[in-house]
Amino acid sequence: MPNIAVIGAGVNGVASAIKILEHYVNDGKTPIKVTIISEDFTPNTTGDGSAGLWGPYLLGGTSQAKVYKWSKSMHQFLEKIWLSEDAGEAGVCLLPCIRLSTSTVDTVEDFWRDIVYGAVDLSKEQLAAYNKGRSVKFTSGLSFVTYTSEPIKLLPYLMKRFTRNGGVVVRKRITDLDAFVADSEYDVIVNCSGLGSKTLLNDDQMYAVRGQVSRVRANWIFSAVLDESDDGNYIIPNVVLGGTHQERDYNTKVCQNDRRMIVDGCQRYIPGLEHTECLFDWVGLRPGRTQLRLEAERRGRKLLIHNYGHGGSGVTLCWGCADDVLNILLAAKNGSKL
Ligand SMILES: Cc1cc2nc3c(=O)[nH]c(=O)nc-3n(C[C@H](O)[C@H](O)[C@H](O)COP(=O)(O)OP(=O)(O)OC[C@H]3O[C@@H](n4cnc5c(N)ncnc54)[C@H](O)[C@@H]3O)c2cc1C
Repeated sequence: MPNIAVIGAGVNGVASAIKILEHYVNDGKTPIKVTIISEDFTPNTTGDGSAGLWGPYLLGGTSQAKVYKWSKSMHQFLEKIWLSEDAGEAGVCLLPCIRLSTSTVDTVEDFWRDIVYGAVDLSKEQLAAYNKGRSVKFTSGLSFVTYTSEPIKLLPYLMKRFTRNGGVVVRKRITDLDAFVADSEYDVIVNCSGLGSKTLLNDDQMYAVRGQVSRVRANWIFSAVLDESDDGNYIIPNVVLGGTHQERDYNTKVCQNDRRMIVDGCQRYIPGLEHTECLFDWVGLRPGRTQLRLEAERRGRKLLIHNYGHGGSGVTLCWGCADDVLNILLAAKNGSKL
């Protein structure tokens, strides 16, 4: 019986574990044991404070073709949940969005525009409305509809789905990955430890991308506005005001200067935010990498699959990356080259 360990209980660990488990359970031919081993679980993973908006972001030099494939798979997964009785429990919401760019060379990055629903460029008149009172003008904008799936709800839903199918959960910190791979009883190990991989693997291509956000009570906002400029703000129902993306900044404390930039910046888009109640401020460290690492290596009889470095898109990519984790595993079992 294949005995598989997935290290990490963030969106990528849980998605990978479910993909593998459900494949074998649905196949019904081979019994399987899948165990998630993690130091922390929801609500204490990186995704738990995020809005979980679908959209590729901060992925270093990761191939655009792969990002397209992985993010499309997640969009289709979210569509399936949205159309099922699980949508509320899994926290999947359909959301109108506006993305705005101040770039004078490019328009809004939109290689994914055929994945989302109803993407159209903003007209000159619409842009002018967003540009009122701004010194740096928006040069292009895109309107579309996509999903949010807040990990604070999505993760408990996925964990339930995992354990309902016989998945095992162990709380434990791995301090020596080489020893764990060599000495543990597992024959396949999937490493989804996010930023933890920096120390576990001594991976100097990994770095934190600090993100600070403010949660406010504003249940009268029903659409997202995202300014793509480097110092741009975003507003995502229910409601997350953002945000920062400070590379190689490991400070997990709330910074008052960042708070001002977030609150003042977002109020410029929606003045009514001035009177909203702040629920809490939150900081997370995105697992940044020069490019996302999804590949396998053989360690003697054992197979070690890496799936980490998802930057600002871990939620957007988790289901598609989990597809590839499963494909790698099945190919290895069939003796194909990795
Ligand atoms: C402010 C902010 C906003 C964001 N907004 C979005 C968004 O709207 N959409 C989107 O797609 N993405 C967003 N992201 C990015 C997203 O949250 C991350 O990319 C994603 O959560 C990474 O998931 P992961 O599973 O790879 O890693 P993590 O969630 O970091 O999980 C890693 C897991 O590994 C465990 N672990 C680590 N080291 C060890 C060890 N040595 N032994 C055992 N266990 C270990 C941890 O306990 C944890 O369970 C946002 C991030 C931030 C900070």
